[in-house]
Amino acid sequence: MKAIRARQIFFVLSILLCSSVAYAEGGSMSLRETLAELGATLSWDPVSARGALELQNHRIVFRAYGNSVKASFVLDGKDLIEAPSPVSADGQLTFPGAFVEAVRTSVKKASEIEKSRFRIAAILVDPGHGGKDTGAVATHVIDGKKVELVEKDIAFEVASRYFALLGAAYPDKSILLTRNGDTFPSLEQRVAIANSVKLAENEAIVFVSIHANASFNKKARGYETWFLSPEYRRTVIDAGKFTDSSEVLPILNDMMEEEFTMESVMIARSIMKRFDGTIAGESPSRGIKAEEWFVVRNARMPSVLVELGFVTNPDDARLLADPSYLRKLSEALYSGTVDFVSTFEKSGGFTAAR
Ligand SMILES: [Zn+2]
Repeated sequence: MKAIRARQIFFVLSILLCSSVAYAEGGSMSLRETLAELGATLSWDPVSARGALELQNHRIVFRAYGNSVKASFVLDGKDLIEAPSPVSADGQLTFPGAFVEAVRTSVKKASEIEKSRFRIAAILVDPGHGGKDTGAVATHVIDGKKVELVEKDIAFEVASRYFALLGAAYPDKSILLTRNGDTFPSLEQRVAIANSVKLAENEAIVFVSIHANASFNKKARGYETWFLSPEYRRTVIDAGKFTDSSEVLPILNDMMEEEFTMESVMIARSIMKRFDGTIAGESPSRGIKAEEWFVVRNARMPSVLVELGFVTNPDDARLLADPSYLRKLSEALYSGTVDFVSTFEKSGGFTAAR
């Protein structure tokens, strides 16, 4: 057994030695050897002596000459790489070892950069409540008419438009709704939707839950955004702390949050900034709040809960009963999310950058 292993090691070593000798001496490889070595395919135009190698979703465009000369070739239509050129002579295409090595190194580098580039692969929009669970309900007289404000309907109206805007803006992302009608998705169903998104190492999913508030204090009004608190460490949460705790607690109890990430704070800020710009003149901002309430499937799930306003306050109620105001809320949510996604993807992911 040992002898066999030793022979195998020797065999591998001799190949490595041979190739390094060949490169050092400026040796060249046949087309067949080059393609096998790189695992590449070739497109070749003998008239212009131009070709393209494709490997691992990367494309290298080069020109061949009668003798190998120092030349540049282009990787993925953008990066210029210097190496000795391939040679086209006597109907044969050959590749200098240094060229093959440069291709290998530059493709490896490009793949590494690609892998580290974080992206938001999915946005999960959660209209709060639904079906038998109405959420907060309040009745007001608006312009002489009796109007009943129901949280599940307000949340759904705003979420639907927000969902449509996101879908149009991001055809390459999965935009999902936890309910697309007046239904009450069970915890299991919500979890199944979140889990249906298969994420790569560098991908994240954003969770945005949309609600309207209620208070015994009729004067309480304004919008606010909640995110997962950094203090959250699988502590048992106080049910009395949160208005929507009856809904959220079972979710929290059923799932484990892995790690707090900055992303939740960032998305809360982006959304509130847009709300401030759009509706602050009409309804006051109550700011960003942290609570230990949330469902986080994994560390890469920035999650926020937005409270659009108080159905129990006459001024907020008048606004929430107005479809054009709800449209403004959807658009502010959308713009805030886009701001977050752009910053997140440009920065390569805040968590990774930390
Ligand atoms: Zn709610």
